[in-house]
Amino acid sequence: MTRPTYLVVGQISHETNVFSPILTGLDQFQGRGLAYKEGLFEVFRGTKTGVGGVIDAVEQARAAGRQVEIIPTIAASAVPSGLVTRDAYAHLLGTLLDGIKEAKAGGRLDGVVLILHGAMVVDGITDAEGDILEKVRKAVGKETPVVSTLDLHGNISEKMVANADAFFGYDTNPHVDPYERAVEATGRILEIIDGKIRPVMAIEKLKMMPPTINMRTAEGPMVRLFTMAREFEAQPRVINVSVFGGFPFADIPEAGSSVVAVTDNDPALAAHIVKTIGQEMWNTRRQFLKPITSTADAVRHAMSPEAQAKGKPGPIILADVADNCGGGGSGDTTVLLQALLDMGAQDVGFAIMWDSEAVRQAEKAGVGGTVTLDLGGQTVPAHGKPVHVTATVKKLTNGEFINTGPMGTGLKVSVGPTTLLQAGGVEIITISNRMAPNDPEIFRHVGIAPEKKTILVVKSRGHFRAGYEPFAKEIVEVDCPGAASPNLSWFEYRHIPRPMFPLDPV
Ligand SMILES: [Zn+2]
Repeated sequence: MTRPTYLVVGQISHETNVFSPILTGLDQFQGRGLAYKEGLFEVFRGTKTGVGGVIDAVEQARAAGRQVEIIPTIAASAVPSGLVTRDAYAHLLGTLLDGIKEAKAGGRLDGVVLILHGAMVVDGITDAEGDILEKVRKAVGKETPVVSTLDLHGNISEKMVANADAFFGYDTNPHVDPYERAVEATGRILEIIDGKIRPVMAIEKLKMMPPTINMRTAEGPMVRLFTMAREFEAQPRVINVSVFGGFPFADIPEAGSSVVAVTDNDPALAAHIVKTIGQEMWNTRRQFLKPITSTADAVRHAMSPEAQAKGKPGPIILADVADNCGGGGSGDTTVLLQALLDMGAQDVGFAIMWDSEAVRQAEKAGVGGTVTLDLGGQTVPAHGKPVHVTATVKKLTNGEFINTGPMGTGLKVSVGPTTLLQAGGVEIITISNRMAPNDPEIFRHVGIAPEKKTILVVKSRGHFRAGYEPFAKEIVEVDCPGAASPNLSWFEYRHIPRPMFPLDPV
């Protein structure tokens, strides 16, 4: 009987917003379901995820008569937030490396398949994935292949490229292909182990870090870039071509967009591909920018009878894109709420304000009671002071509801103890656990019919569109301060290479 091929598998994934003061500790990874060893099979088998893709690809290979075994190590991911703590990182990386060393000592290490993000920043380590791959490389040695899938928002570094055999970046945004890329990566590592291909990689790093607001792959400048990537991939010696928009909330030397190509032992071709697509990306860099509306203009517009009279019935949605928890926003910025109150806006549904202390006070007052409090504005004082309000407690809930929108349909979610506060003409959904209000059920579960409101506020960048667009009259993206603002001039960068588009005139 021939000896099986052993693949060590692990996931360490985080999109770090260095401007968020909310540190990402081990508890935040645990909150999203940290899995160890055999637990990876329990959690991910049958799911359309990266680890699920590896499991399926191995099972398919087995069904085709190939003997392959997975040695699972760890799977960790957390909601985007601030720097990953050193303790959390030491634990995650240590667990992965222990798994690799154990496999090696037992003579069961033929390759490593990783699910990484590319935009993880650890307290004291700007290029976390570069560090992970360097240590993995050291542990496995030069001859053992290491491949990884990566997120389209990864800030890819030379160090990462130097310490891996092949990368497989997501081709879609919103990301609907982590599973497919993991299947691809697994199939390719088996070909490497069998000596059928000898991958070489090239990277073109660009002096641009556009905001993520116009990086969708169905429209805008990414369409052309991914078409070019697919055309190159049709050539026989090309293994994979990935375009990385990057993640701009990273004040690190490795920040920026990039293109990575993997070819079968043809370094010149890989270099040609990344240069060609990189040049096109640079040439079209301005197309990544998208104007957004100032807070005062947005509120004035939403309140104007002319704007309300236009188009189909339904609310005008003000998207507080800068405070999107899914991009590292704190969920408690106040500039837009303050403006709505100051300008006397009426019939407004506001989702969300993250303030567990306010919820506690509302619980004490009870439904129908009145509270006077300083709402929100706790996380980053520069993103707006707490709003001093006297409000009526209209509702108290446990924050649980089931998504009915097209994203995560049927998934039960919880924003923790929640209250609906009425202040002036604004009904504010105040929650205890940070989460972007991507599904309209967050309104319905507190008794608001979102389609009937005059104005809705959602603290979300883009994922809310799937659920809200069908009943919205209009969507206005508002330029408020926040840790996930597409207006990068709000942030003070100290460590990125300069000049850098769009911050510098290039
Ligand atoms: Zn992403």
